[in-house]
Amino acid sequence: MIGSYGLSGDLLTAVRWTLPALRLAWNAAKRDVAPWWDACSKEAFSAGLDQLARGLKNVTDSRKGKRKGRRVGFPRFKKRGKARDSFRYTTGAYGPAGDRRVKLPRIGRVKVHEPMGALTGRLAEGRARLFGATVSRTAGRWFVSFTVDVERDAPAGPSRRQRAAGPVGVDLGVKHRAVLSTGETVANPKHLAGSLRRLRKASRAYARSKPDSAGRRQRAARLARIHARVAHQRRDGLHTLTTRLAKRHDVVVVEDLHVAGMVRNRRLARAVADTAMAEIRRQLSYKTIWYGSRLEVADRWYPSSKTCSGCGWRNPSLTLSDRTFTCQSCGLVVDRDLNAAVNLRTLVAGSASETENARGGDRKTALARQVPGKREPGTARAGQTGSAVPPRTAARQRLTHAS
Ligand SMILES: [Zn+2]
Repeated sequence: MIGSYGLSGDLLTAVRWTLPALRLAWNAAKRDVAPWWDACSKEAFSAGLDQLARGLKNVTDSRKGKRKGRRVGFPRFKKRGKARDSFRYTTGAYGPAGDRRVKLPRIGRVKVHEPMGALTGRLAEGRARLFGATVSRTAGRWFVSFTVDVERDAPAGPSRRQRAAGPVGVDLGVKHRAVLSTGETVANPKHLAGSLRRLRKASRAYARSKPDSAGRRQRAARLARIHARVAHQRRDGLHTLTTRLAKRHDVVVVEDLHVAGMVRNRRLARAVADTAMAEIRRQLSYKTIWYGSRLEVADRWYPSSKTCSGCGWRNPSLTLSDRTFTCQSCGLVVDRDLNAAVNLRTLVAGSASETENARGGDRKTALARQVPGKREPGTARAGQTGSAVPPRTAARQRLTHAS
Protein backbone atom coordinates (compact mmCIF):
# COMPACT_ATOMS: atom_id res chain seq x y z
CA MET A 1 0.00 0.00 0.00
CA ILE A 2 1.36 3.40 -0.94
CA GLY A 3 0.62 6.61 0.86
CA SER A 4 1.54 10.16 0.04
CA TYR A 5 3.83 12.35 1.94
CA GLY A 6 3.43 16.06 1.39
CA LEU A 7 6.25 18.49 1.88
CA SER A 8 5.80 22.25 1.52
CA GLY A 9 3.34 21.76 -1.28
CA ASP A 10 5.78 21.38 -4.16
CA LEU A 11 7.36 18.03 -3.33
CA LEU A 12 5.01 15.10 -3.01
CA THR A 13 6.66 11.74 -2.52
CA ALA A 14 4.98 8.38 -2.34
CA VAL A 15 6.01 6.39 0.73
CA ARG A 16 5.40 2.74 1.26
CA TRP A 17 3.55 1.86 4.43
CA THR A 18 6.46 0.05 6.04
CA LEU A 19 8.70 1.00 8.90
CA PRO A 20 11.96 1.19 6.85
CA ALA A 21 10.27 3.31 4.21
CA LEU A 22 8.70 5.59 6.78
CA ARG A 23 12.06 5.96 8.53
CA LEU A 24 13.79 6.84 5.33
CA ALA A 25 11.18 9.43 4.49
CA TRP A 26 11.37 10.89 7.96
CA ASN A 27 15.14 11.17 7.88
CA ALA A 28 14.98 12.89 4.52
CA ALA A 29 12.39 15.38 5.66
CA LYS A 30 13.05 16.01 9.33
CA ARG A 31 15.38 18.97 8.82
CA ASP A 32 12.66 20.80 6.93
CA VAL A 33 9.51 19.77 8.75
CA ALA A 34 10.94 19.54 12.26
CA PRO A 35 14.00 21.75 12.68
CA TRP A 36 13.95 20.88 16.39
CA TRP A 37 14.41 17.17 15.73
CA ASP A 38 17.95 17.20 17.11
CA ALA A 39 16.75 18.19 20.56
CA CYS A 40 14.86 14.92 21.00
CA SER A 41 16.00 11.37 21.38
CA LYS A 42 15.90 9.52 18.06
CA GLU A 43 14.00 6.86 19.98
CA ALA A 44 10.98 9.13 20.21
CA PHE A 45 10.72 9.33 16.42
CA SER A 46 11.61 5.73 15.94
CA ALA A 47 8.93 4.48 18.32
CA GLY A 48 6.39 6.87 16.81
CA LEU A 49 7.13 5.61 13.31
CA ASP A 50 6.96 2.04 14.53
CA GLN A 51 3.49 2.67 15.91
CA LEU A 52 2.48 4.39 12.70
CA ALA A 53 3.70 1.41 10.64
CA ARG A 54 1.71 -0.95 12.86
CA GLY A 55 -1.37 1.23 12.54
CA LEU A 56 -1.04 1.32 8.76
CA LYS A 57 -0.55 -2.43 8.63
CA ASN A 58 -3.75 -2.85 10.59
CA VAL A 59 -5.51 -0.69 8.00
CA THR A 60 -4.32 -2.82 5.08
CA ASP A 61 -4.94 -6.09 6.90
CA SER A 62 -8.41 -4.92 7.76
CA ARG A 63 -9.14 -3.94 4.17
CA LYS A 64 -7.88 -7.25 2.85
CA GLY A 65 -9.94 -9.13 5.38
CA LYS A 66 -6.86 -10.51 7.14
CA ARG A 67 -7.81 -8.87 10.38
CA LYS A 68 -10.84 -9.76 12.43
CA GLY A 69 -13.12 -7.35 14.17
CA ARG A 70 -14.24 -3.88 13.33
CA ARG A 71 -12.89 -2.18 10.25
CA VAL A 72 -9.74 -0.26 11.06
CA GLY A 73 -9.61 3.30 9.82
CA PHE A 74 -6.64 5.41 8.85
CA PRO A 75 -4.59 6.48 11.89
CA ARG A 76 -5.70 9.74 13.39
CA PHE A 77 -3.41 12.69 13.33
CA LYS A 78 -1.99 13.48 16.75
CA LYS A 79 -0.90 16.82 18.05
CA ARG A 80 0.96 17.80 21.16
CA GLY A 81 -1.51 18.60 23.91
CA LYS A 82 -4.45 17.26 21.90
CA ALA A 83 -3.84 13.54 22.24
CA ARG A 84 -2.16 11.55 24.95
CA ASP A 85 1.32 13.03 25.06
CA SER A 86 3.77 10.19 25.19
CA PHE A 87 6.91 8.72 23.70
CA ARG A 88 8.67 5.44 24.09
CA TYR A 89 12.18 4.10 24.38
CA THR A 90 12.92 0.58 23.25
CA THR A 91 16.70 0.77 22.96
CA GLY A 92 19.37 2.84 24.63
CA ALA A 93 20.38 3.32 28.22
CA TYR A 94 17.08 3.72 30.03
CA GLY A 95 16.06 2.22 33.33
CA PRO A 96 16.26 2.75 37.06
CA ALA A 97 19.30 4.64 38.26
CA GLY A 98 19.48 4.68 42.00
CA ASP A 99 16.84 4.68 44.67
CA ARG A 100 14.37 7.22 43.35
CA ARG A 101 15.96 8.00 40.05
CA VAL A 102 15.40 6.94 36.48
CA LYS A 103 17.72 7.45 33.54
CA LEU A 104 16.30 8.34 30.17
CA PRO A 105 18.37 8.84 27.00
CA ARG A 106 18.74 12.48 25.94
CA ILE A 107 16.93 13.65 29.09
CA GLY A 108 19.25 12.31 31.75
CA ARG A 109 18.59 11.26 35.31
CA VAL A 110 15.15 12.16 36.58
CA LYS A 111 13.85 12.05 40.11
CA VAL A 112 10.77 9.89 40.58
CA HIS A 113 8.34 9.39 43.46
CA GLU A 114 8.39 5.63 43.59
CA PRO A 115 11.33 3.75 45.10
CA MET A 116 13.13 1.77 42.41
CA GLY A 117 14.80 -0.73 44.70
CA ALA A 118 12.65 -3.74 43.85
CA LEU A 119 13.12 -3.33 40.11
CA THR A 120 16.83 -2.53 40.42
CA GLY A 121 17.36 -5.64 42.53
CA ARG A 122 15.50 -7.89 40.13
CA LEU A 123 17.38 -6.50 37.15
CA ALA A 124 20.71 -7.01 38.92
CA GLU A 125 19.83 -10.62 39.73
CA GLY A 126 18.81 -11.24 36.16
CA ARG A 127 15.26 -12.01 37.25
CA ALA A 128 13.80 -9.17 35.23
CA ARG A 129 14.29 -7.75 31.77
CA LEU A 130 13.35 -4.33 30.48
CA PHE A 131 11.50 -4.19 27.19
CA GLY A 132 10.75 -0.52 26.94
CA ALA A 133 9.96 2.67 28.75
CA THR A 134 7.06 4.94 27.97
CA VAL A 135 7.08 8.52 29.12
CA SER A 136 3.68 10.13 29.20
CA ARG A 137 1.92 13.18 30.54
CA THR A 138 -1.41 13.15 32.33
CA ALA A 139 -2.99 16.26 33.77
CA GLY A 140 0.30 18.12 33.96
CA ARG A 141 2.27 15.28 35.54
CA TRP A 142 4.88 13.16 33.87
CA PHE A 143 4.98 9.42 34.20
CA VAL A 144 7.42 6.80 33.12
CA SER A 145 6.26 3.22 32.90
CA PHE A 146 8.59 0.32 32.20
CA THR A 147 7.53 -2.79 30.35
CA VAL A 148 9.25 -5.52 32.33
CA ASP A 149 9.44 -9.26 31.96
CA VAL A 150 9.68 -10.55 35.51
CA GLU A 151 10.41 -14.07 36.66
CA ARG A 152 8.31 -15.00 39.60
CA ASP A 153 8.22 -18.08 41.74
CA ALA A 154 4.51 -18.79 41.74
CA PRO A 155 3.23 -21.28 44.29
CA ALA A 156 1.94 -24.51 42.76
CA GLY A 157 -1.33 -24.30 44.63
CA PRO A 158 -3.20 -22.59 47.44
CA SER A 159 -1.69 -22.39 50.89
CA ARG A 160 -3.27 -24.00 53.92
CA ARG A 161 -4.64 -20.65 54.99
CA GLN A 162 -6.19 -20.03 51.59
CA ARG A 163 -7.78 -23.48 51.61
CA ALA A 164 -9.12 -22.89 55.10
CA ALA A 165 -10.71 -19.62 53.96
CA GLY A 166 -12.25 -21.44 50.99
CA PRO A 167 -13.73 -19.95 47.83
CA VAL A 168 -15.16 -16.46 47.74
CA GLY A 169 -17.96 -15.21 45.50
CA VAL A 170 -17.70 -11.58 44.45
CA ASP A 171 -20.66 -9.51 43.31
CA LEU A 172 -19.53 -6.25 41.80
CA GLY A 173 -21.96 -3.44 41.90
CA VAL A 174 -22.70 0.16 41.18
CA LYS A 175 -23.40 1.34 44.68
CA HIS A 176 -20.71 -0.66 46.43
CA ARG A 177 -17.46 -1.72 44.92
CA ALA A 178 -18.13 -5.34 45.81
CA VAL A 179 -20.15 -7.60 48.05
CA LEU A 180 -18.37 -10.77 49.11
CA SER A 181 -19.98 -14.10 49.89
CA THR A 182 -18.38 -13.80 53.33
CA GLY A 183 -20.96 -11.10 54.03
CA GLU A 184 -18.45 -8.33 53.76
CA THR A 185 -19.25 -5.22 51.79
CA VAL A 186 -16.33 -3.49 50.15
CA ALA A 187 -17.36 0.11 49.81
CA ASN A 188 -15.99 2.55 47.32
CA PRO A 189 -13.12 4.36 49.00
CA LYS A 190 -14.33 7.30 51.09
CA HIS A 191 -11.94 9.75 49.53
CA LEU A 192 -13.44 8.93 46.16
CA ALA A 193 -16.76 10.49 47.14
CA GLY A 194 -15.01 13.77 47.95
CA SER A 195 -13.18 13.71 44.63
CA LEU A 196 -16.40 13.00 42.76
CA ARG A 197 -18.01 16.00 44.43
CA ARG A 198 -15.10 18.20 43.40
CA LEU A 199 -15.29 16.70 39.93
CA ARG A 200 -18.94 17.66 39.54
CA LYS A 201 -18.20 21.18 40.71
CA ALA A 202 -15.23 21.55 38.39
CA SER A 203 -17.23 20.18 35.45
CA ARG A 204 -19.93 22.76 36.01
CA ALA A 205 -17.39 25.55 36.32
CA TYR A 206 -15.74 24.43 33.11
CA ALA A 207 -19.03 24.19 31.24
CA ARG A 208 -19.96 27.72 32.27
CA SER A 209 -16.65 29.28 31.23
CA LYS A 210 -16.29 31.32 28.09
CA PRO A 211 -14.83 29.48 25.08
CA ASP A 212 -11.20 30.30 24.24
CA SER A 213 -10.69 32.25 27.45
CA ALA A 214 -7.81 31.97 29.91
CA GLY A 215 -10.34 30.98 32.56
CA ARG A 216 -11.52 28.09 30.45
CA ARG A 217 -7.98 26.77 30.00
CA GLN A 218 -7.41 27.03 33.74
CA ARG A 219 -10.63 25.22 34.50
CA ALA A 220 -9.86 22.56 31.91
CA ALA A 221 -6.53 21.94 33.61
CA ARG A 222 -8.19 21.72 37.01
CA LEU A 223 -10.83 19.36 35.66
CA ALA A 224 -8.15 17.16 34.12
CA ARG A 225 -6.26 17.03 37.43
CA ILE A 226 -9.36 15.92 39.32
CA HIS A 227 -10.20 13.36 36.65
CA ALA A 228 -6.70 11.92 36.93
CA ARG A 229 -6.98 11.85 40.71
CA VAL A 230 -10.30 10.01 40.58
CA ALA A 231 -8.85 7.52 38.12
CA HIS A 232 -5.87 6.92 40.42
CA GLN A 233 -8.07 6.46 43.47
CA ARG A 234 -10.28 4.02 41.61
CA ARG A 235 -7.30 2.06 40.40
CA ASP A 236 -5.77 1.96 43.85
CA GLY A 237 -9.02 0.63 45.29
CA LEU A 238 -9.26 -2.09 42.64
CA HIS A 239 -5.71 -3.24 43.26
CA THR A 240 -6.29 -3.38 47.00
CA LEU A 241 -9.41 -5.48 46.47
CA THR A 242 -7.95 -7.93 43.96
CA THR A 243 -4.75 -8.48 45.93
CA ARG A 244 -6.77 -9.23 49.02
CA LEU A 245 -9.09 -11.65 47.24
CA ALA A 246 -6.30 -13.53 45.49
CA LYS A 247 -4.21 -13.72 48.65
CA ARG A 248 -6.87 -14.80 51.11
CA HIS A 249 -8.94 -17.37 49.24
CA ASP A 250 -8.17 -20.47 47.22
CA VAL A 251 -10.78 -19.73 44.55
CA VAL A 252 -12.27 -16.40 43.51
CA VAL A 253 -15.56 -16.58 41.61
CA VAL A 254 -16.82 -13.62 39.60
CA GLU A 255 -19.60 -13.09 37.11
CA ASP A 256 -18.97 -13.04 33.41
CA LEU A 257 -19.23 -9.74 31.62
CA HIS A 258 -22.14 -8.78 29.45
CA VAL A 259 -19.92 -7.34 26.80
CA ALA A 260 -22.66 -6.38 24.39
CA GLY A 261 -24.65 -4.78 27.19
CA MET A 262 -21.62 -2.82 28.29
CA VAL A 263 -21.34 -1.04 25.00
CA ARG A 264 -24.98 -0.15 24.91
CA ASN A 265 -25.23 1.16 28.42
CA ARG A 266 -25.01 4.88 28.71
CA ARG A 267 -25.47 5.43 32.41
CA LEU A 268 -22.19 6.67 33.77
CA ALA A 269 -22.26 4.80 37.05
CA ARG A 270 -23.06 1.54 35.29
CA ALA A 271 -20.38 2.13 32.67
CA VAL A 272 -17.82 2.79 35.40
CA ALA A 273 -18.85 -0.37 37.24
CA ASP A 274 -18.54 -2.41 34.05
CA THR A 275 -15.08 -1.05 33.36
CA ALA A 276 -14.09 -1.80 36.94
CA MET A 277 -15.37 -5.31 36.52
CA ALA A 278 -13.28 -5.92 33.43
CA GLU A 279 -10.25 -4.54 35.23
CA ILE A 280 -10.91 -6.63 38.33
CA ARG A 281 -11.03 -9.75 36.19
CA ARG A 282 -7.83 -8.80 34.41
CA GLN A 283 -6.03 -8.25 37.70
CA LEU A 284 -7.40 -11.40 39.28
CA SER A 285 -6.31 -13.49 36.32
CA TYR A 286 -2.64 -12.78 37.03
CA LYS A 287 -2.75 -12.22 40.78
CA THR A 288 -4.38 -15.60 41.41
CA ILE A 289 -1.36 -17.16 39.70
CA TRP A 290 1.00 -15.09 41.83
CA TYR A 291 -0.65 -16.23 45.04
CA GLY A 292 -1.47 -19.83 44.17
CA SER A 293 -5.23 -19.35 44.04
CA ARG A 294 -7.47 -19.58 41.00
CA LEU A 295 -10.10 -17.53 39.25
CA GLU A 296 -13.42 -18.92 38.13
CA VAL A 297 -15.86 -17.08 35.92
CA ALA A 298 -19.55 -17.88 36.08
CA ASP A 299 -21.45 -18.45 32.88
CA ARG A 300 -22.92 -15.21 31.72
CA TRP A 301 -26.44 -16.62 31.72
CA TYR A 302 -26.14 -17.89 35.25
CA PRO A 303 -28.86 -16.06 37.21
CA SER A 304 -26.82 -15.31 40.32
CA SER A 305 -29.18 -12.56 41.45
CA LYS A 306 -32.42 -14.39 40.75
CA THR A 307 -31.59 -17.64 42.48
CA CYS A 308 -32.14 -18.25 46.19
CA SER A 309 -28.79 -18.92 47.83
CA GLY A 310 -30.58 -20.99 50.46
CA CYS A 311 -32.61 -23.46 48.44
CA GLY A 312 -32.08 -22.77 44.74
CA TRP A 313 -35.57 -21.40 44.06
CA ARG A 314 -35.67 -18.88 41.26
CA ASN A 315 -37.44 -15.59 41.14
CA PRO A 316 -37.59 -14.71 37.45
CA SER A 317 -39.44 -11.47 38.10
CA LEU A 318 -36.70 -9.96 40.24
CA THR A 319 -35.86 -6.50 38.94
CA LEU A 320 -32.79 -4.32 39.34
CA SER A 321 -34.60 -2.11 41.83
CA ASP A 322 -35.32 -5.02 44.19
CA ARG A 323 -32.56 -4.57 46.73
CA THR A 324 -33.66 -7.55 48.81
CA PHE A 325 -34.14 -11.11 47.70
CA THR A 326 -37.16 -12.77 49.29
CA CYS A 327 -37.48 -16.48 48.71
CA GLN A 328 -41.02 -17.76 48.31
CA SER A 329 -39.90 -21.32 48.77
CA CYS A 330 -37.77 -21.33 51.92
CA GLY A 331 -38.53 -17.87 53.23
CA LEU A 332 -34.98 -16.58 53.09
CA VAL A 333 -34.71 -12.80 53.13
CA VAL A 334 -31.28 -11.59 52.14
CA ASP A 335 -29.55 -8.60 50.59
CA ARG A 336 -29.68 -8.93 46.83
CA ASP A 337 -25.93 -8.56 46.25
CA LEU A 338 -24.97 -10.86 49.09
CA ASN A 339 -27.35 -13.47 47.69
CA ALA A 340 -25.62 -13.20 44.31
CA ALA A 341 -22.16 -13.44 45.88
CA VAL A 342 -23.11 -16.55 47.86
CA ASN A 343 -24.49 -18.14 44.69
CA LEU A 344 -21.23 -17.48 42.91
CA ARG A 345 -19.26 -19.09 45.70
CA THR A 346 -21.60 -22.07 45.71
CA LEU A 347 -20.71 -22.71 42.07
CA VAL A 348 -17.26 -23.93 43.05
CA ALA A 349 -18.06 -25.12 46.55
CA GLY A 350 -19.95 -28.01 44.94
CA SER A 351 -18.65 -30.51 47.44
CA ALA A 352 -19.67 -28.45 50.44
CA SER A 353 -22.58 -30.07 52.23
CA GLU A 354 -24.69 -26.94 52.39
CA THR A 355 -25.05 -26.87 48.63
CA GLU A 356 -25.99 -30.42 47.97
CA ASN A 357 -29.71 -30.16 48.37
CA ALA A 358 -31.98 -29.67 45.42
CA ARG A 359 -29.82 -27.73 43.10
CA GLY A 360 -28.01 -30.07 40.79
CA GLY A 361 -30.16 -28.99 37.87
CA ASP A 362 -29.21 -25.37 38.23
CA ARG A 363 -25.52 -25.99 38.42
CA LYS A 364 -24.74 -28.06 35.39
CA THR A 365 -23.90 -25.29 32.99
CA ALA A 366 -23.13 -22.64 35.50
CA LEU A 367 -19.36 -22.47 35.38
CA ALA A 368 -18.27 -21.03 32.10
CA ARG A 369 -14.54 -21.31 32.43
CA GLN A 370 -11.63 -20.47 34.55
CA VAL A 371 -9.18 -17.88 33.55
CA PRO A 372 -5.68 -19.09 34.24
CA GLY A 373 -3.46 -16.12 33.56
CA LYS A 374 -1.51 -16.62 30.40
CA ARG A 375 -3.39 -19.61 29.12
CA GLU A 376 -6.10 -19.00 26.57
CA PRO A 377 -9.47 -18.73 28.31
CA GLY A 378 -11.53 -21.81 27.78
CA THR A 379 -8.69 -24.26 27.29
CA ALA A 380 -8.86 -25.63 30.81
CA ARG A 381 -11.81 -27.46 32.31
CA ALA A 382 -13.17 -26.67 35.71
CA GLY A 383 -11.46 -28.59 38.45
CA GLN A 384 -8.20 -29.02 36.60
CA THR A 385 -6.28 -25.96 37.58
CA GLY A 386 -4.58 -25.74 40.93
CA SER A 387 -1.58 -27.80 40.04
CA ALA A 388 -1.62 -26.79 36.38
CA VAL A 389 0.06 -23.50 37.14
CA PRO A 390 3.67 -23.55 36.00
CA PRO A 391 6.10 -23.11 38.88
CA ARG A 392 7.76 -20.14 37.29
CA THR A 393 5.66 -17.66 35.48
CA ALA A 394 6.87 -14.79 33.43
CA ALA A 395 4.51 -11.94 33.89
CA ARG A 396 4.51 -8.65 32.16
CA GLN A 397 4.30 -6.00 34.72
CA ARG A 398 4.04 -2.31 34.46
CA LEU A 399 5.56 -0.12 37.05
CA THR A 400 4.47 3.44 36.98
CA HIS A 401 6.50 6.20 38.44
CA ALA A 402 5.50 9.78 38.68
CA SER A 403 8.06 12.47 38.93
ZN1 LIG B 1 -35.00 -20.31 49.18
